[in-house]
Amino acid sequence: MSSPVEKFAIGIDIGGTKIAAVLLSEEGELAASSQVLTLAHEGPQAVFDKVAEQITDLARQKPGAVVGVGIGSPGKVDSSRGIVYDAVNLGWKEVNLTEEISNRIGGSLSVWIQKDTNLNALGEYYFGACQGCTDFVYIGVGSGLGAGIISNGQLITGGDWYAADVGHLSINPEGQPCACGGRGCAELVASGPGLVRVTRQMLANGSALSILSDQAELTPADILAAARKDDPLALEALREVGRVLGIIMSACTVILNPARFVIGGGLGVAGFDFIVPTIRAEMIRRTLPNHRGQMDMVRSQVESPAMGSACLVWYALSGKMLKVEAVIK
Ligand SMILES: [Zn+2]
Repeated sequence: MSSPVEKFAIGIDIGGTKIAAVLLSEEGELAASSQVLTLAHEGPQAVFDKVAEQITDLARQKPGAVVGVGIGSPGKVDSSRGIVYDAVNLGWKEVNLTEEISNRIGGSLSVWIQKDTNLNALGEYYFGACQGCTDFVYIGVGSGLGAGIISNGQLITGGDWYAADVGHLSINPEGQPCACGGRGCAELVASGPGLVRVTRQMLANGSALSILSDQAELTPADILAAARKDDPLALEALREVGRVLGIIMSACTVILNPARFVIGGGLGVAGFDFIVPTIRAEMIRRTLPNHRGQMDMVRSQVESPAMGSACLVWYALSGKMLKVEAVIK
């Protein structure tokens, strides 16, 4: 009797800077990975070519054992039609991603697509910080602020694919204009660029002495390094990030009653210890003890966003995906 053949999925994450790809087994074993620069200015066709090339290369490593491809994209991702809309940092207004990729890889593999932050949540659910937890919210604090919701074991995508777009909930409707067209969005504070903006404002106000005062260039890493040296201004700026996240997470708590929050993204992971105490304090101010439960908050454990993309294959094959018309095989 022959032993059952191990199955593999390919995951792709199309980011503004790089395209990450993984070959992942059903047990979560990372068999291979690759990464290329997105170079979105070369146009969508060039990006599709790169994605297809990575898929073909990875599929070759496990002939006959790869069962599908999951792709994560920013923007509004209509996974039932296979179309991505308004992926601003890729310069995409409307692209038929599923079809473009399927045509290029020769039609032998099924292709599913989903919003990138939703896939971050799936990655944590399958092989990260939320295994066995059927109700949680992933909060990604990086170049922007995004989220992904798993409720009752189901990925929540919304009526028009915009569920969990927490970065553009306005904290201050009279505040600064946001790229989305709104004002005072949470992302303007609770993100890497947001932290830099807040820190610059505080420096300009001269509200506290800081080792950052003389620095011409300022990055989130600089601000975190200053905070580790107990720089009062850096600590205050990080508290502001935590305060805004606390408002967003209070809203998530009363609406979804999650058992856990997992915090990811570059700033979310690196700044976790600085922001979590303020998040907790803000949630205590805004929610009832029964609603917020244990306020279980953990760091993201999935290293590559492409792993979450691969998990979309396992999720789709499990039959849990409600809207899957657009799978092209
Ligand atoms: Zn906005």
